[in-house]
Amino acid sequence: MSVILGIGSNIGDSKTFIAKAIELINDKFVLLSESSLYETVSLLRDDQRNYYNKVISIECDLSPEKLLQFIKELEVSIGRNKNPLYWGAREIDIDIIDHNGIIIDCDILTVPHKCMNERSFVLIPLKEIDGDYIHPATLESIDSMISQLKDDLNIKIIDSI
Ligand code: ADP
Ligand code: MG
Repeated sequence: MSVILGIGSNIGDSKTFIAKAIELINDKFVLLSESSLYETVSLLRDDQRNYYNKVISIECDLSPEKLLQFIKELEVSIGRNKNPLYWGAREIDIDIIDHNGIIIDCDILTVPHKCMNERSFVLIPLKEIDGDYIHPATLESIDSMISQLKDDLNIKIIDSI
């Protein structure tokens, strides 16, 4: 099964945190593709530092729930500290963007990721690794979703693949 993950960081040595996350994910699963590294301003346009983001795809045989559990443990092992703010700054954030086209909507998990349509730092790197991506619930193409973005958060590539 192919799974798309979004990885972000905006505290500390973000490049190293993201590289570490990919290394640990690659120890357990097969890394299929990896986007460039992108930088964006905070969604909240507050005084948080800029975010670094990447999107990857992996071959993964875990259920979405089991994968979420793995991801949460990974975030803690990489050094994510609890931040009381829901959208606060973080050392590492790993989100399940798509899990083999499955649609899930429950308390702990929404797949495809609920906010992917509004997030340039998900859609633009995703287009880089899968230009034919179609949202499994809305059947919208990646280009159509990108064309409807209201804010690109000044997204730019900082390290090309
Ligand atoms: P953020 O929403 O900014 O990523 P967290 O990483 O703290 O914040 O995640 C909050 C909760 O979102 C997680 O505990 C998880 O249960 C839930 N969640 C819902 N859908 C997803 C998803 N597709 N990927 C990751 N977490 C998800
Ligand atoms: Mg998260």
